[in-house]
Amino acid sequence: MELDGNALAGDLAEVFAIEMTSAGFTCAGCKHTGVVATLRVWTPVPGAVARCPSCGDVIFSLVRTPSRVYLTLTGTARLELPL
Ligand SMILES: [Zn+2]
Repeated sequence: MELDGNALAGDLAEVFAIEMTSAGFTCAGCKHTGVVATLRVWTPVPGAVARCPSCGDVIFSLVRTPSRVYLTLTGTARLELPL
C-alpha cells in the first residue's frame, strides 16, 4: 500500500518531540558513532554547523529564520532516537 507523507504524522511528531542531544548519530564519512551532545558545533550567522568529533565532516546544519528551521542531515548516516 502506498500512502503520502501524512501517514507518518504520528511517528514524526513523537520522534521530533524528544530531547535530541541524547540522540545517537552515525557519521556518513567515517562511521563514527556517538551522541549529538558530543558533536563539535560552530555557530556563524545565520545557523549552526555540527561536525563529527572524529573526522570533522559536517554531520548536520541548522539554519533558523523568523518563520522556519532548515535542518540538513547530509553527513548523517543514521540518527538513533530514544523514545
Ligand atoms: Zn566522521
